[in-house]
Amino acid sequence: MDNISVEIEVSARHIHLSRDDYNFLFGEDSDFKIVKQLSQEGEFATDKKVKVIGPEGSIEARFLGPFRKKTQLELSTTDCFEIGISAPYAIEVSEEAAEIKLAGKEAEIRRNCAIIARRHLHCNPKEAKKHNFTPGQLLDLTIKTERGGVIYSDVVVRIADHYRMRVHLDTDEGNAAGITEQSKGILTLEK
Ligand SMILES: [Zn+2]
Repeated sequence: MDNISVEIEVSARHIHLSRDDYNFLFGEDSDFKIVKQLSQEGEFATDKKVKVIGPEGSIEARFLGPFRKKTQLELSTTDCFEIGISAPYAIEVSEEAAEIKLAGKEAEIRRNCAIIARRHLHCNPKEAKKHNFTPGQLLDLTIKTERGGVIYSDVVVRIADHYRMRVHLDTDEGNAAGITEQSKGILTLEK
């Protein structure tokens, strides 16, 4: 595999909601507004925020659509410290996700849905074929910014038809690397 240049996006904390949980939190008749289309086709940020309540504090997480089968809250390590929870590193929500209280305008619910997203690469099958990426493959990402250089290992390859090639880091990872809007990285096979 050659060195492959890739755009990097930093994902702030956010929540994906099931339709049922959305209805619980905001009410059956509640509508959300789309405030921004995201780089991954069909995915968007909304005007709705959910209050995330832990034993030591609370923060807000923006609801990103469309609806998912399962509610999934993606936090950074710093977010977890702030509210006093410990969440597992994961690609998606599972039984191991941390329990958390969520509050909307209408109600509060408790869900096992909090994870710290593992850094990952989105790409579609055509891009994957071009670069010989396979699902679940682990890559090294080298980033050089004004702050200096870092290498993040274990970037997980995720492939789906509606994906566009982007690396997603969380805010802790992005800040540690000195990422700006235009930052790019170089992907190489993990050694
Ligand atoms: Zn992503």
